[in-house]
Amino acid sequence: MLKGAGAAAAATILGGLPLTAAAQDNAAAYGGKRKILVIGAHPDDPETCAGGTMCLLKQAGNEVVSVYLTRGEAGIEGMSHEQAAAVRVVESDNACRVMGIRHIFMDQVDGNTEVNLARYKEMRELLERERPDVVITHWPIDSHRDHAACGLLVLDAWRRVGRTFRLYYMEAMSGTQSQMFTPTHWVNIDPVVDLKHEACLCHVSQGMQPLLDDWHIPMEKFRGLECRCGAAEAFALHTEALKSL
Ligand SMILES: [Zn+2]
Repeated sequence: MLKGAGAAAAATILGGLPLTAAAQDNAAAYGGKRKILVIGAHPDDPETCAGGTMCLLKQAGNEVVSVYLTRGEAGIEGMSHEQAAAVRVVESDNACRVMGIRHIFMDQVDGNTEVNLARYKEMRELLERERPDVVITHWPIDSHRDHAACGLLVLDAWRRVGRTFRLYYMEAMSGTQSQMFTPTHWVNIDPVVDLKHEACLCHVSQGMQPLLDDWHIPMEKFRGLECRCGAAEAFALHTEALKSL
């Protein structure tokens, strides 16, 4: 059962793009260019949660954009917000260069993200401006307030713009941060796993190698076991009113 379900899920599609075949084949099969936004709360969230999928989508000829809700201002001990933000912006530049994608910084503050009318509007306006085909963001049930806030802002914006794109949730350190995460889609990232890790390791200030070793790589392997490959990333598709998409 698992084999059938896992294989079928891995063969399914993010916004119409099959990700189990070689990236070149995907490009040949789908030709057209789609736009995918991966919206994370902090620098390193898109890369660690969905970096392999981002690389595959990019290599298949799509436009992939990493969106950071904050600049990770609170993420370096002993540094002021301004100093930490400066370091982490450079690290994000480097990570996105590795993946060959562009990025956008929003103006919320790490550890102090807000969910209010102004922030809802801000997220909606970003999505109206960018007009993505697919958005991947945080699963909102997460012990980190910023991750939860990010998921809620994107979910609200998706509804407000009329559900004009496919919305997927990603997991962040499931068990510690994401809770009760239930995947609907698995993406085999074997062809790009080294590239993903190279992008993650650009976030030097976060002590990324131990995080990869202790959390992200075991998660990739676990999700890989579920869909019969070496390393995978898992996502949950928001199916509300999906028939209208
Ligand atoms: Zn985070």
